[in-house]
Parts: sequence; structure tokens; C-alpha cells
Amino acid sequence: MKVLVLDSSALIQGFSPAELAYTVGAVLAELRDELTRLRVESQAASGMINIREPDEHYVALVAEEARRRGEGASLSVADAALLSLAIQLKDEGLEPVVASDDYAVQNMAEHLGLQYRSLAVGGIRKRFRWVTYCPGCRRVFEEAPPDGVCPVCGTALKRRPSDGVRVR
Ligand SMILES: [Zn+2]
Repeated sequence: MKVLVLDSSALIQGFSPAELAYTVGAVLAELRDELTRLRVESQAASGMINIREPDEHYVALVAEEARRRGEGASLSVADAALLSLAIQLKDEGLEPVVASDDYAVQNMAEHLGLQYRSLAVGGIRKRFRWVTYCPGCRRVFEEAPPDGVCPVCGTALKRRPSDGVRVR
């Protein structure tokens, strides 16, 4: 069964009530707008949204993958918990689709073999290219070194979308 796993951008923009939806408590805590939070709380109370926390095993799995991919810094605690829950739901036999407009979440979903979709008006954005760069010496790498560490200065490498737009 297909289910949606919603991040804060999806909760803010709203979603089709035809689909069973999940999120995690940390995402709710990220909602700063009072009206949005009240709406989501009432959707949770009526069973439209299931709020569930992922098991530690899945949290550890996503944290390890994020670290390996150099996404640790761009992924919030809430995002990581959300992706962890999505993997858990998949293990439980559901077909989770991560609904998020966040590049880092979409990219990690891709790495983790999860389906995802954007809510952006104007259709689904294609997966974009990343460049790997060193926050220490500012070098840019076409091919990311496998250990995720700058071979010149030893700083942990980061990535950003290749168009130069900062996601956060
Ligand atoms: Zn460097």
C-alpha cells in the first residue's frame, strides 16, 4: 500500500487526504506557523496523519548513510527521522513516498532507494547535480573522494546543488 511520508514543506503546502500519511514528531516541532500547526494537529487527531517515531535501528542507518554521502550537515534531525521512518515503513511492507520540496531530503531519499516527490507548483523537479566542495580550502571536486575528506587540507567535504543555489 502506498503511503505518503511528509516533511514540513509538505505539511505546510497541504496534501491529498486520499492517501494515508505519516510524519514524525520532530517535523511537527519544526512548524513555526501556528495555523499550520493547528491544522496538522487536527489532521493527526482525526487519523489523516499518523505521527510515528522510527526505531533506533533505522535512525542509525540513515545517520550512517548521510555521513557517508556528506549530507550530515544539510539534513536536519527532523529530516533524518523522517527518512528513517520511511525506510522502516518500507521494511514493514508499505510503499512509502517521501513528499518534500527539500533538495537534501530528496537526494537522501534517492540514495536510500526511497520513492520521493516534490510538491512544488509546476511539477516534479528533476534530480539535480551536486558538486562536492571543501569548506576549508574551497576546492571543488568533480569526483568526490570516496572517504569524503579533502585530499588537500583534510576537511570533511560538503555538497551543494551545481547551480550554486544554497538550499538552506
Ligand atoms: Zn580542502
